[in-house]
Amino acid sequence: MKSTMQDIPLTLTALLRRGELFPRSEVVTCEGETSRRATFPEVAARIPRLAAALRELGVQPEDRVGTLCWNHQEHLEAYFAIPCMGAVLHTLNLRLPPQQLAQIVNHAEDRVIIVDASLAPLLAAIRPHIPSVQHVVVVGDGDVSGLGDVHRYEDLVQAAPATFDWPNIDERSAASMCYTTGTTGDPKGVAYSHRSIYLHSFAVWATFHITDVERVLTIVPMFHVNAWGVPYAAWMVGADLLLPARHMQPDALCAFMEREKPTFTGGVPTIFTAILAYAQANGRDVSYLKRAVGGGSAVPASLITAYREKLGIELIQAWGMTETSPIGTIALPPKGTSPGDEMQFRSKTGRPVPGVDLRIVDDSGAEVAHDGVAVGEIEVRGPWITGSYYKTDAPEKFHNGWLRTGDVGNIDALGYVQITDRSKDVIKSGGEWISSVELENLLMGHPSIADAAVVGVPDERWQERPLAAVVLKQGDSATPDDLREFLQDKVARWWLPERWAFVSELPKTSVGKQDKKLIRAMYAEGKIEVVQLAAAQRS
Ligand code: AMP
Repeated sequence: MKSTMQDIPLTLTALLRRGELFPRSEVVTCEGETSRRATFPEVAARIPRLAAALRELGVQPEDRVGTLCWNHQEHLEAYFAIPCMGAVLHTLNLRLPPQQLAQIVNHAEDRVIIVDASLAPLLAAIRPHIPSVQHVVVVGDGDVSGLGDVHRYEDLVQAAPATFDWPNIDERSAASMCYTTGTTGDPKGVAYSHRSIYLHSFAVWATFHITDVERVLTIVPMFHVNAWGVPYAAWMVGADLLLPARHMQPDALCAFMEREKPTFTGGVPTIFTAILAYAQANGRDVSYLKRAVGGGSAVPASLITAYREKLGIELIQAWGMTETSPIGTIALPPKGTSPGDEMQFRSKTGRPVPGVDLRIVDDSGAEVAHDGVAVGEIEVRGPWITGSYYKTDAPEKFHNGWLRTGDVGNIDALGYVQITDRSKDVIKSGGEWISSVELENLLMGHPSIADAAVVGVPDERWQERPLAAVVLKQGDSATPDDLREFLQDKVARWWLPERWAFVSELPKTSVGKQDKKLIRAMYAEGKIEVVQLAAAQRS
């Protein structure tokens, strides 16, 4: 029997229209000491103009339009104009080395690139090597030498007609794309559909509880997995959007926050650690922020506690990846949890959100027991999980219709997942697993440690042993023995690293994660000084 329901396509055009419902909601862009503001209807009125201008430049349905931009109003306009005209928004990671950036532009065959004037030198460096790009559109004022002929974004928008005849779009067609930033192998393209973004926006809305009374600060870059889909969800429900542009240092962010008073934000743990340290050292007031979602890498329990106790902010852990749009799990305690027990759930990776099917399988492909102990690879499927990569065959990344995440972990009887490692980062010592993530989280709880990474390095006797690379807080000191003693009653004895490196900073990837591949390479090449204690004793 057929249903009686209307068959309305789930497209971004439908989400775009909702902006007009919220004349009291605003998009605020940080411009250093001041803010630039526009109401949702004012932004909505510029979007057809941008689409008309891009059409004038020759952009046709399915063409890719790249954006090399920070988080700001114009980027939000592109988020809607490009997909709604039937083209594909391709957000470019401005922290990639030029050669990789060119590789991605060429792979996607971007036809037009919208670039911030402040990022013109980065694009200029690759301009001769990206032949598919016919037009460059520059946002903001500034020197654009090296880019050849360019169009100015504002001139185009002002000169364009005020209306655009939005086409009917197949909800399954690509709306935007983003390349993975894996530290191994070439970046792979993930293409989100109108339908996947539409459904994911509802998941973000429900999971993060964003409503029109919230003021949402997007710290996650809009070039990384659509800023976790937060701009679309906020627009859909009329939550104010506070966009920090290039003012992403803790001091600038704190000043922007004091001025604009966000109630909700999301970002990687590194940035939350930096904000906490800066706000505390400089007496900055961030108390209006009620909730923050942390993800992108494990959020240490000590950071969640510090946010609650020192700043009064609920820091919630979530997990996802470029391939999962990204929302996959969220770590909120289940009903009936006493306050004293909350942390055992909040410090986990989380429970799958509605819409995401998740399982953990062992090497033979069988599902592991839900006992919080048995470890295997996490696999997911769902309407906003990728089923392939753009123009790249990668059969090893899929398993009977499930995406193999490359994350390794366990799942308990209540469905809470705990990631213990990336599959490429697992440490196997004498045939037993050591969780680098758990060691890092514990080390982050030491009062003198500002940052920590644990990697597996070759060992003659045990095949592999953990090397702990730590950054001490300024003015603090700690020896390997101190740190081992701190860990002693928290993990099995043979997990305790005997190799320690004290470094001034840890290498990070273009999206702010520990670059463990580089740490291992630096160790192999003797480029980090390591204190080595007596060999591990297995008890
Ligand atoms: P990306 O595609 O760059 O967003 O990276 C996705 C990867 O980040 C995941 O596969 C995980 O390895 C890692 N990740 C994201 N969130 C978490 C989390 N809450 N805990 C541990 N790892 C995470």
